[in-house]
Amino acid sequence: MTEQTAPAGRHIPADLPDRIQHYIDGEFVDSVDGDTFDVLDPVTNQTYLKAASGKKADIERAVAAARRAFTEGPWPTMTARERARILHRIADIVESRDARLAELESFDSGLPISQALGQARRAAENFRFFADLIVAQTDDAFKVPGRQMNYVNRKPIGVAGLITPWNTPFMLESWKLAPALATGNTVVLKPAEFTPLSASLWAGVFEEAGLPQGVFNLVNGFGEEAGDALVKHPDVPLISFTGESRTGQIIFGNAAPFLKGLSMELGGKSPAIVFADADLEAAIDATIFGVFSLNGERCTAGSRILVERPIYDEFVERYAAQAKRVVVGDPQDKATEVGALVHPEHYEKVMSYIEIGKTEGRLVAGGGRPEGFPEGNFVAPTVFADVPRDARIFQEEIFGPVVAITPFDSDDEALALANDVKYGLAAYVWTNDLKRSHNFAQGIEAGMVWLNSNNVRDLRTPFGGVKASGLGHEGGYRSIDFYTDQQAVHITL
Ligand code: NAD
Repeated sequence: MTEQTAPAGRHIPADLPDRIQHYIDGEFVDSVDGDTFDVLDPVTNQTYLKAASGKKADIERAVAAARRAFTEGPWPTMTARERARILHRIADIVESRDARLAELESFDSGLPISQALGQARRAAENFRFFADLIVAQTDDAFKVPGRQMNYVNRKPIGVAGLITPWNTPFMLESWKLAPALATGNTVVLKPAEFTPLSASLWAGVFEEAGLPQGVFNLVNGFGEEAGDALVKHPDVPLISFTGESRTGQIIFGNAAPFLKGLSMELGGKSPAIVFADADLEAAIDATIFGVFSLNGERCTAGSRILVERPIYDEFVERYAAQAKRVVVGDPQDKATEVGALVHPEHYEKVMSYIEIGKTEGRLVAGGGRPEGFPEGNFVAPTVFADVPRDARIFQEEIFGPVVAITPFDSDDEALALANDVKYGLAAYVWTNDLKRSHNFAQGIEAGMVWLNSNNVRDLRTPFGGVKASGLGHEGGYRSIDFYTDQQAVHITL
């Protein structure tokens, strides 16, 4: 076990591993060349474990195992009910380990423990949801009486390559694993290199639940090596990717020669639009949570707040005061609302945006490292007001606890400001005018819109972005569509 030099009173999870291997064909294995990379504790930036660093040869082994499990079965040919039973067992196990998962996830990623707990529950729910969906799945049949019968034969596609980011890693992995497995595919998961700890738990969960050998494979490593090899492997017909828009572009190009199926969930710079007639208290609470929860490392963060002029000054004043009350602290402390950013590289990126922001807007809260945190990746919740639309902190995804506030004078101007970025993931609208809220939702370039509500999602709804925020939608039966081929069968009567 790794010895941690913890700040006084800091909770360190018991039995932390000091190394993580790949999981291929039902076995934990090292990289073919024995290479590893360091994983850091975001509170101290000390290395606390070494993870196997996957190369092309490791991906080849994992894909071969997944391919064998697909062609030899039984997973793809099991009935939906049989697969669903295993998926429900997976959900039961994840749920029963909720506290332990949250503790490890929080330690590895720097997320506040209270928010990591919700992530483990959501991961279990993803498995339950897709287990139920495949059992209830019906497919089309079309009859031309006396002439022809046509029906749809839905088939799993093969080996799905799943590439995931470091924010809420376990939950986001479940979001891909559950539908890929539910539909009878086999998988190779390449989790993010900053946060490999929780992904290493899947193997034990799946074995205990009775998932057949070779159906789930895990290769750790860097995107440019392990991820790249997965994207370019000819026996992987599907890539489901969540990460930065720039990485999505690279993967899109690398997958093109193979004409692979691609699902891309990418970056965001989502607006929260607050009209003068809104319930101000509710809007402030929600927009605080919208950008500072999950350390601001949230794809759907409302990181630009557009406020109608008559309430602008009051909003900025109250918002800044509330941001200053957000509790920054040790991620394992239940009272913590913003923990430590995931990695020093990311911390440097967020800090550099804060410096840029000081030249572009008016700093009204935060602005750097909070007092009392001399080390680790801690950032004070930071608020800039009067941010112009051409500012970099208005246009670019920061992915940390930093928000830009901008005034507007009319509905048209609000819509133009909302849409004037390359991204189009989410939008939040606060107004008590019913007609305006619906018309505004119609005009806004975003895959998901929340009207007078927090970011709460029904699993049946489509999830995805437009413009640089993504390609295709997942969620509900759209995920089932992505992970299956729909073969049309025609019969002459
Ligand atoms: P990232 O793009 O740096 O990395 C994501 C994954 O891709 C990692 O596993 C990485 O190793 C891998 N990767 C990197 N280069 C690769 C390559 N050339 N080929 C194959 N794989 C490669 O993203 P990140 O920094 O881990 O995550 C943060 C980003 O993810 C933010 O932009 C955020 O908005 C986005 N995100 C989007 C959603 C969504 O649903 N739209 C959800 C969460 C995060």
